[in-house]
Amino acid sequence: MVISVAIIGSGPAGFYAADALLNTGLDIEIDILELLPTPFGLVRGGVAPDHQPTKGVARKFEKIGNDIRLQFFGNVNVGKDITIDDLRGMYDAVILAVGAPSDRKLTIPGADKDGVFGSAAFVGWYNGHPDFADIDPNLKINAAVVIGSGNVALDVARVLVRSPAGRARTDIPGYARTPLDASPITDVYILGRRGPAQAKFTNVELRELLDLTECVPIVDPADLAQAIPADLEGRDRRLAEKNIETFHAFAEMDPALASKRLHFRFFASPLEILGDTHVQGVRVERTRLEDGRAVGTGVVDDIPCGLIVSAIGYRADPIPGLPFDDKRGVIPNEQGRIDKGIYAVGWIMRGPEGVISSSRPDATDVAEHIMRDFQGGGSKPGRSALDKALAERGVRVVSFADWKRIDAAEAGRASAPAPRQKFTDVDDMIRHLDEDK
Ligand SMILES: Cc1cc2nc3c(=O)[nH]c(=O)nc-3n(C[C@H](O)[C@H](O)[C@H](O)COP(=O)(O)OP(=O)(O)OC[C@H]3O[C@@H](n4cnc5c(N)ncnc54)[C@H](O)[C@@H]3O)c2cc1C
Repeated sequence: MVISVAIIGSGPAGFYAADALLNTGLDIEIDILELLPTPFGLVRGGVAPDHQPTKGVARKFEKIGNDIRLQFFGNVNVGKDITIDDLRGMYDAVILAVGAPSDRKLTIPGADKDGVFGSAAFVGWYNGHPDFADIDPNLKINAAVVIGSGNVALDVARVLVRSPAGRARTDIPGYARTPLDASPITDVYILGRRGPAQAKFTNVELRELLDLTECVPIVDPADLAQAIPADLEGRDRRLAEKNIETFHAFAEMDPALASKRLHFRFFASPLEILGDTHVQGVRVERTRLEDGRAVGTGVVDDIPCGLIVSAIGYRADPIPGLPFDDKRGVIPNEQGRIDKGIYAVGWIMRGPEGVISSSRPDATDVAEHIMRDFQGGGSKPGRSALDKALAERGVRVVSFADWKRIDAAEAGRASAPAPRQKFTDVDDMIRHLDEDK
């Protein structure tokens, strides 16, 4: 009998899992359940809006979504509209692909002041994620600080310093583009507790800063003088070498060439957020490396700023009824298998690291587990049971055809050169679907 599979989450991990299963040759029926009416997870809501070619991977996922053995159930909140236990009763296999949506918390004093945001919220805001559309950061400021030294920190900083003409080519929603374009911001600081050799920026993203029209990246040449640690080997060493070469190119640029500056402050550990109720600055302590760890030197200075975005990583949320490894922030699993009939892929399975395609091997592993676990075929009703339960509970399911209508409307109402004008409110999306019959 046909094997019924429910995949929870329609980000890259969910779609790669569906693709791998569809390619097994098994007699299979797959349903993808997604919290939002829109698919593709962080491809839509995380990847930087000025990186449209990266977001283009969604077209590949769309092809997978068109397979007749697969159905998309958008606007279904698993945990609220339907539980995992319900799904386990209905489907032979349930695959968790819910990602790691929460910020790792910044725990220094003052981190709760107004004007301090985690990157999940700030990135979600400029990407039009409905949960963050109304965070309304004050951008009538001269300086911002981004804490963290990975690509997410670079994305946030770049969006802040990009020219209005550059932002016009993105799908940043109007509510965010207007204050970003009007912002008098001139200086953005990226803080890293360790040195340039330890930073996690990929070199392509770093080099992209050389092409910004209104902004010059700035780095202290003294920070570049430290030797790359001997124990950094292979790819990590090559990345550090390339990045330091790029930082040298930054150090040779003339800051007077542009109206904005993006400062890389390495060996800088944030100690405290300053201000009354609203952030007015951050106190940082100079660090030095001891056995690869950043230790304070006691040398302290303050960076005045009106906005702080902490981009120090993400973490998954525990899922009721399933074990959770709080330290690693993942569901304990063996190469994606939690138990017979329940599996995990992507960030909830591996932790919040890696690029879009990193979820592809997870998908292959889980497809193999399912092939082994269900050699005799499936036994549970799957889609018909889900349809019935969601109808009884009055859930307004958004189908893949509905999503395509949202997609077409977003593209249709955009003003060139913007690729789309996103819906950023779930009720607006549903209203559009109901009115545009
Ligand atoms: C800010 C940022 C920028 C990035 N930029 C790039 C980049 O430029 N290039 C690149 O290769 N990688 C990039 N990445 C990494 C990439 O986005 C991730 O590797 C990838 O999205 C992880 O896939 P996932 O499917 O595990 O999680 P996600 O993409 O987060 O997908 C999870 C999905 O599950 C849904 N979901 C969650 N809970 C529920 C629930 N209860 N019920 C139903 N559905 C639910 C969510 O709505 C979401 O759609 C970036 C990541 C971030 C955070």
